[in-house]
Amino acid sequence: MKLYTKILLGMILGIIVGFAFNQFGAAEYAAYIEPIGTIFIRLVKMLVVPLVLISLILGSASLGDIRKVGKMGLKAFAFFMFTTAVAATIGIAVANIGQPGVGMPEEKKTELIAQYEEQSLQQAAEAEELAEKSELEKIFDLMVRIVPTNPFQSLAEGDMLGVIFFALFLGICITLIPPEKAAPLIKAFDGLNDAVIKMVTLAMETAPYGVFALMVGVVATLGLDILVLLFKYAIIVLLGLILHVVITHFSFIYFYVRRSPLLFLRAIKEAILLGFSTSSSSATLPISMDVAQRNLGVSREVSSFVLPLGATINMDGTALYQAVAAIFIAQVFGIDLTFVQQLTIILTATLASVGAAGVPGAGMITLALVLGTIGVPETGLALIFGLDRLIDMCRTTINIIGDLTLTSVMAKSEGETVDIQLDRDIIPG
Ligand code: ASP
Repeated sequence: MKLYTKILLGMILGIIVGFAFNQFGAAEYAAYIEPIGTIFIRLVKMLVVPLVLISLILGSASLGDIRKVGKMGLKAFAFFMFTTAVAATIGIAVANIGQPGVGMPEEKKTELIAQYEEQSLQQAAEAEELAEKSELEKIFDLMVRIVPTNPFQSLAEGDMLGVIFFALFLGICITLIPPEKAAPLIKAFDGLNDAVIKMVTLAMETAPYGVFALMVGVVATLGLDILVLLFKYAIIVLLGLILHVVITHFSFIYFYVRRSPLLFLRAIKEAILLGFSTSSSSATLPISMDVAQRNLGVSREVSSFVLPLGATINMDGTALYQAVAAIFIAQVFGIDLTFVQQLTIILTATLASVGAAGVPGAGMITLALVLGTIGVPETGLALIFGLDRLIDMCRTTINIIGDLTLTSVMAKSEGETVDIQLDRDIIPG
């Protein structure tokens, strides 16, 4: 049986078992299974920092020109911002058409707020720290933070932007020292890179069990009644996410990369499944990197540059969800949002997605920021809290499809042919 089939089976079984736990009032037993999922996530996360560091050093050592690196960085950033803004716009459109929050009965609203008020206020408090700064200050802050004062601290804290900067700089400088000194270094990093990729491959063998356990945990604790209460909202977010993939991502793949979108999806299916079950772009990064190189045939230079950046700052699904959620909450509270307020949502959701980390639930914290800017009460977060993990799984999947789409676009724009082949055994190059 192929690994993908096993992961899918693990997921389906996990949903069934979790559902059974939920229905028979045995949700607390999921706690005995969940540690397997947590171990799996830790195993994969353990590989993120070494993989990014080593492959970026190697990648930039082979690019070898600071202008080329700068050009690629700017281009990637522009693409990220563009697709994220499109996603937020689609979110606004579907929410305006679908009107998810109109006509919610008062008692439902009170029930939801009473149930989740405490947690949502906690989220709002976390967001407040960020909110004290103006948008411009936040952008400057982000720029400043790219340069680490201590790269080892960045490595230890998983500060991806700092790691990326250090690795690129070191890689470039390796090409500037005498070749007889650079050669053994490159050889060593090359060997290390292969070893880490082997670790990713082996860790992935445990994915079916990890995914099973993760799904049991999520489904067992998910109140089904909440799904009924928020059905319309959930459907509209989902619809928006699917529309974004079809309109934006597929167009890039079909018209620019000139590949079949369905073949593209098949090539990245492991990353899709993992993004869905971990709700974390950053935990999925090793697998995204693997499918980009192995199945999409994207070079190591491009994928190891674009994907770590993408996992950190490119979040189409998150921005779209924030747009729908903001309008939903406003509608439930009976607030009519003006055109300018809706434009503000697009802008802040796009910027907030840069600030959101690729970890579960990050998008909800930055959603509090978006609500703050348009003057919608943050207690409204309580309305969507109960369903957020499920929505997170879906939006993270779209974030990852977005990252891999833009990796293919960047590869093409760098003159590579995106040669999609399923189940390549060896990573080319
Ligand atoms: N979980 C998302 C991600 O890792 C971020 C979010 O909460 O929207 O991409």
